[in-house]
Amino acid sequence: MSRLVMKFGGTSVGDVERIARVARIVAAARKPGQGLAVVVSAMAGETDRLVNLARAAGGEGGNGAPLPAREFDDEYDVIVSTGEQVTTGLLALALRRIGVPARSWQNWQAPIRSDAAHAKARLSSISEERLGPSIDQGVVAIVPGFQAITEDNRITTLGRGGSDTSAVALAAALKAERCDIYTDVDGVYTTDPRIVAKARRLEKISYEEMLEMASLGAKVLQTRSVELAFAHRVPVRVLSSFVEPGAPNPGTLVCGEDEIVEKQVVSGVAYSRDEAKVTLLGVEDHPGVAADIFGRLADANINVDMIVQSEARQEGRQNIVFTCPDRDAGRAAETIEAARGKIGVEEIHIRRDVAKVSVIGIGMKSQVGVARTMFAALAQKGINIEAIATSEIKISVLIDAAYTELAVRALHTAYELDAA
Ligand code: ADP
Ligand code: ASP
Ligand code: MG
Repeated sequence: MSRLVMKFGGTSVGDVERIARVARIVAAARKPGQGLAVVVSAMAGETDRLVNLARAAGGEGGNGAPLPAREFDDEYDVIVSTGEQVTTGLLALALRRIGVPARSWQNWQAPIRSDAAHAKARLSSISEERLGPSIDQGVVAIVPGFQAITEDNRITTLGRGGSDTSAVALAAALKAERCDIYTDVDGVYTTDPRIVAKARRLEKISYEEMLEMASLGAKVLQTRSVELAFAHRVPVRVLSSFVEPGAPNPGTLVCGEDEIVEKQVVSGVAYSRDEAKVTLLGVEDHPGVAADIFGRLADANINVDMIVQSEARQEGRQNIVFTCPDRDAGRAAETIEAARGKIGVEEIHIRRDVAKVSVIGIGMKSQVGVARTMFAALAQKGINIEAIATSEIKISVLIDAAYTELAVRALHTAYELDAA
């Protein structure tokens, strides 16, 4: 008996007609000897609606202080997880209407467990004890994405975009041969097709490249889902849910590097506007200062990304620039401000209108001149680079957010990624 996991995102299940098409796609995927599990997202816009309701009830934007995270996050999870439950029932009905045996499974029925980090929980186990035999008997299992329960049976959610992670984790638990992620684009593109019309669909992309693409801003797959797929070697296919069954729909296969014959120097360009730049001017320059600053930020649970250190004009002083997620910038500055005297920092500045643009490619490992092409392409458009970070397979630069699209397009052209 083989097994397959299919996942349908919010736009794909956006209304009852689309759910009926999803049912046809699932029906067409059935074959003897193969069990099917389907992970669904909330209907398009539904999670946003629920998030806004929760925030309003929690006091955001109203009079008085909103509830702190420790009092808010567990009930937030109760509220926002409901979107997916609705879709499981709707899809089960749509399948039964066309004669396909199907049933919904809520997180507590499987069960699907996670740690207790509400609103950003990590899955800990998915039991296949009940699900497995049921799907092997030909009943399609419909499972809500994005959520789990703790050991204490409290509901958690996995962070925005978390249904991808649910699907890959389920595929690993069920030892499925593949996880098919159906979405509103027909695969993984060289860059976001919504901002570059000349973006090209990739036939294949390695786990490592996809991991960088996702963590550097390509929202087509949640980063954690790619980590899990990589760790458990689950082949993932990204494909369109807007194609009727039977029509060509090759999508993109996310797979091991060894399965990719022609390794591109640069396979893709990603961008993220969710960045902020914090500048510390006139920082005392002696051993232990960086450890002190970044230790405090780590204790405050702030994820620092790029770091640039340079000499200040005054003797014995330096300047330190770092980036972090935009939502954490205020807290980062407060953390340093609180210890300003102890650390020895003269000025603290925050800039929020910055973006990170990155080029990613496994072929970079063995190629020189990749950075030069990037810097030259940006210079030619008059775009200033404010910070740089590199790894073996990516180069990221921080720029003025106003130039994000211009930079992405220029790099897409410079690395010859444009579709003919
Ligand atoms: P779903 O609701 O199915 O989970 P998402 O909106 O989360 O769909 O992800 C699909 C979107 O990801 C696409 O509509 C596209 O705009 C965006 N995207 C960003 N970068 C890429 C990329 N490199 N390739 C494909 N899509 C991308
Ligand atoms: N519905 C959730 C969200 O919008 C999870 C998902 O769709 O992956 O973030
Ligand atoms: Mg998504």
